[in-house]
Amino acid sequence: MHARNRTIPIAASSTHNPALEYMTTKKDEFVGWARKFSLFPYPFVTACCAMEFMAVSSTPYDTDRFGAALPRFSPRQSDLLMVVGTVTHKQAPILRKVYEQMCEPKWVMAFGACATSGGFYQNYAAVAGIDRIVPVDVYVPGCPPRPETVIDAIMQLQDRIARQPHPIVTRDF
Ligand code: SF4
Repeated sequence: MHARNRTIPIAASSTHNPALEYMTTKKDEFVGWARKFSLFPYPFVTACCAMEFMAVSSTPYDTDRFGAALPRFSPRQSDLLMVVGTVTHKQAPILRKVYEQMCEPKWVMAFGACATSGGFYQNYAAVAGIDRIVPVDVYVPGCPPRPETVIDAIMQLQDRIARQPHPIVTRDF
């Protein structure tokens, strides 16, 4: 074989460190577990879905079981933006600003048909889904959604949080 055609083996990466990888995986599991049970919702409430938000926050549904009961009314102290109700184009910049003021990591829930897709408001004033303004992690269907549906969405979000990487300690640390 001509020397030019020979493949040259690539040397193993000198930065590969199994112990560090193991610790990073365990750290992700631990931080994910802690974060999924310490959600602080910021309710961005605009319309009639608010009644259902109040219902899901009430004692019979007990969202405290999921570590997601305590609403914060400052975006800087929240990590779950719950957009509850219709969002108009006039409100869109406000919603974006609230999202940007939240610290990382943060998640977004579209609560109800209006937040998800504009609902039945097919007009010039309503935004046809908040994912045109902010990234959405979980959508809750229904007009309004039942509290059980909201709880299901919280649990789905918690699963996602538990599985995602949580880069706190890096190789450069
Ligand atoms: S989804 Fe239905 S209940 Fe919720 S804000 Fe829209 S119209 Fe109101």
